[in-house]
Amino acid sequence: MTKPQSWEARADEYSLYGFTDLPSVHKRGAVVLTHGEGPYVVDVNGRRYLDANSGLWNMVAGFDHKGLAEAAKAQYDRFPGYHAFFGRLSDQTVMLSEKLVEVSPFERGKVFYTNSGSEANDTMVKMLWFLHASEGNPQRRKILTRWNAYHGVTVVSASMTGKPYNEVFGLPLPGFIHLTCPHYWRYGQEGETEDQFTARLARELEDTIQREGADTIAGFFAEPVMGAGGVIPPSQGYFQAVLPILRKYDIPMISDEVICGFGRTGNTWGCQTYGFTPDAIISSKNLTAGLFPMGAVILGGDLSDRVQAAVERIEEFPHGFTASGHPVGCAIALKAIDVVMNEGLADNVRRLAPRLEAGLRAIMERSDNIGELRGVGFMWALEAVRDKATKTPFDAHLSVSERIANTCTDLGLICRPLGQSIVLCPPFILTESQMDEIFDKLEQALRKVFAEVA
Ligand SMILES: *Cc1c(COP(=O)(O)O)cnc(C)c1O
Repeated sequence: MTKPQSWEARADEYSLYGFTDLPSVHKRGAVVLTHGEGPYVVDVNGRRYLDANSGLWNMVAGFDHKGLAEAAKAQYDRFPGYHAFFGRLSDQTVMLSEKLVEVSPFERGKVFYTNSGSEANDTMVKMLWFLHASEGNPQRRKILTRWNAYHGVTVVSASMTGKPYNEVFGLPLPGFIHLTCPHYWRYGQEGETEDQFTARLARELEDTIQREGADTIAGFFAEPVMGAGGVIPPSQGYFQAVLPILRKYDIPMISDEVICGFGRTGNTWGCQTYGFTPDAIISSKNLTAGLFPMGAVILGGDLSDRVQAAVERIEEFPHGFTASGHPVGCAIALKAIDVVMNEGLADNVRRLAPRLEAGLRAIMERSDNIGELRGVGFMWALEAVRDKATKTPFDAHLSVSERIANTCTDLGLICRPLGQSIVLCPPFILTESQMDEIFDKLEQALRKVFAEVA
């Protein structure tokens, strides 16, 4: 057998691509990358792309941050790996847990580590099942989430995810209940105000709890801003309407901050941006600025006490991953938190977010085919429509958002097509001139593709 020659052909021959539009990759070839420079990535042919998606939301400090790489190297030299079982764990793990509770919205708490965001959500669900069973409520197993939510790809976190693509796996599992997505622009009814929409969703939550029985529900999970669902901020007052209902029925509220956490929305946590305090936080992605696969469950005081009491009754929490609390991951996370919070990255997001919003809004206003701009901080989506007034989408077979993203790639800009939207979530180190490069290339691509499909 002769081996394929080009990087693209070699990638096609030996790689099974996930979440990838195959016809488009077969036609265009995979983009094979060798390294990065600030917010840019460079491919095997020497082409540079401004990655306006921070990799997959996570490379918030860019692709060549020296301090982060040095923290990793130093820890690899000092103590390159360990677990967190049997009461043995690394000093870095202890320090990171302390730090995470300190920067969390909780006065006290406890932290449990995983290798990914999916596993952190899975872990949280297992903790809730474990906790409720140990408190004499083994029937409290149902999980409430929302349509368009993205919580991961493991069997449980995919069941929590509210996307139709999981049907190919026969998911969701029974007992995972999806409520209406709080996207007023798309799901608000004729004549309904945003406040009425929020009130309707709150009623739906309470009706669902009463129909299913509060004593069968283990917890409610929500991203402050839905990320992979298409950057969907909550409708006005959503969390203020939902939280009292969850409290009334003693249902723990878990904020999935895998994208929103550590500065993406302009505050340390998305729940701070939207003015609510959850019972636990799920963190991953930018927790290590993308340099190490790591997730964390951060329990607030009440859940910490209850889970701890349950563990003591049962003697152990039989759960953990070989690399949970990996010392190198923890050392990188400690450095990443410091870099984001104390070296100006979070400040840069706060300073430049209004400029990013204004530039995107101007692009929307100049286009007849952008129906909505939505987002906060450094996470935004522009939604393409055939008709602005009626919000009518383009025919799906036109693949408008894929064509826009592909045209951007040709121009040296990486952005992500999601449904009919284009998602932009640049690294926190972005400068004003790099932001202008995003605006210029994006608008060129929009003009070209809308002219083709008009
Ligand atoms: C990416 C993501 C996850 C899953 O994280 P993985 O590390 O890919 O498993 C979970 N929740 C949210 C909100 C995410 O964006």
